[in-house]
Amino acid sequence: MKNVIARFAPSPTGFLHIGGIRTALINYIIVQQSKSQKKDSKFYLRIEDTDKMRSKKEFEESIINGLTWLGIKWDDRIIHQSERINRHYEVANQLLKNNNAYKCICTPETLEKKRLENKRKHINVKKLCIKCEKNEKVQSLKTNYCVRIKIPSEGKLLLKDKIQGNISLENKELDNFILLRNDGTPTYMLSVVVDDYDMNVNTIIRGNDHLNNTFRQVYIYKHMEWQIPEYSHLPLIHGEDGSKLSKRHGAIDVNELNNLGYIPKSIINNLILLGWSPKKINEIIEIDEIIELFDINKISRSASIFDYNKLNYLNNYYLKENKNYKFFENYILNNNNLSKFIKEDHIKIKRVFDSFKNNINYFSQIDAIIISYFDHSFRTKSHELLNENFNIILKDFINDLTKIDDWNEKQLTDFIDNFLKKKKIKFPIFGKPLRIVLTNSIKGPSIIAILYALGKETSFLRLNNYIRK
Ligand code: GLU
Repeated sequence: MKNVIARFAPSPTGFLHIGGIRTALINYIIVQQSKSQKKDSKFYLRIEDTDKMRSKKEFEESIINGLTWLGIKWDDRIIHQSERINRHYEVANQLLKNNNAYKCICTPETLEKKRLENKRKHINVKKLCIKCEKNEKVQSLKTNYCVRIKIPSEGKLLLKDKIQGNISLENKELDNFILLRNDGTPTYMLSVVVDDYDMNVNTIIRGNDHLNNTFRQVYIYKHMEWQIPEYSHLPLIHGEDGSKLSKRHGAIDVNELNNLGYIPKSIINNLILLGWSPKKINEIIEIDEIIELFDINKISRSASIFDYNKLNYLNNYYLKENKNYKFFENYILNNNNLSKFIKEDHIKIKRVFDSFKNNINYFSQIDAIIISYFDHSFRTKSHELLNENFNIILKDFINDLTKIDDWNEKQLTDFIDNFLKKKKIKFPIFGKPLRIVLTNSIKGPSIIAILYALGKETSFLRLNNYIRK
């Protein structure tokens, strides 16, 4: 077994989204698997920031924070592609010198004209610049040219991909793509190969949308006589309607998922099940077990569907576990509207959470509830269920309730059972209006959970405020 040097190489032109998280995650897992035998295996993070117009610091931060939040840790320092432009330039010149690239002065208009002409004549030719290569004057220019790669027109290229299997593409389908632009800046196509080579990357795992790029990039490896890495192209992720996953299907970027109150474990669990199964009866699987069981060769070749119901199911499963309560505390601490409440009474926060956790898919579903449980100016609104009969019973209830010494769920349960028996009433008759008095809502957790979560002082305050009205 050889070491694995892999990387996640996002362009900071957008937030980290579900597809990117999955690519990063699988690279991370593959390296962790290899590390158990080969200590020098590495998972690098490289920010591909050469597109000055579209790259933004804000996006870079979202990528770094997102990966950190998800626990996807990279090795060594972060590499910025923009640091390495001189080296990309050097390789382009090497390719020119070895006659594997040529200078071109075609304008976009000339090339477009050629493309339309070919189309009209039904000629399938991807290499549109055909004259510059043979033009000595152009080849001896010192400025004002771009550099294009040379790719043969005949023959085909075979590729072995761990997921896609053996694939091939006719050389005539490949264009003589640009390596250096007119202004001397390198293109993504060149930079990515040079950086991967220099960083000793031997394993490239990325989205299927790069498959066509791979065929083109392989020619740089071939021309430079560099070892071609092992490729795995991950099938794309679709929404439930079968179209490419996008915002209209739901939250897709890591900030949104974080703000809604999803737990990293459920995102990771849901993503790893796309096209792969641990063959367990229940599909709950956390990162250590994923690293033990995951097999990239078994990923399905077809696109997978990102199912938000499944994500919600998994998130509800994880958020209920006591050991994961810290995620809720972090959620509250990072929320400007809620963080003050945890400082005011962290025990109450925990009680509110415990009363609602069975019925929520993600934390932000109880934002409003937390605010209402901490609302010191709470007043019960009028409601048809709050009638004179109820008020009479409630006065006795309040009176008896003052006698309770320890405000815990067991005592509250016994107390309410005894009270209902004594009054010979069925629970809903009293419980429903009581819930309104305490929360202004007919729905919600049990009365016991509400009283317990509100705490003795606030419960009495709300009951007395109502009865004194
Ligand atoms: N920077 C490229 C992107 O964000 C990915 C490059 C690669 O994985 O080879 O799409």
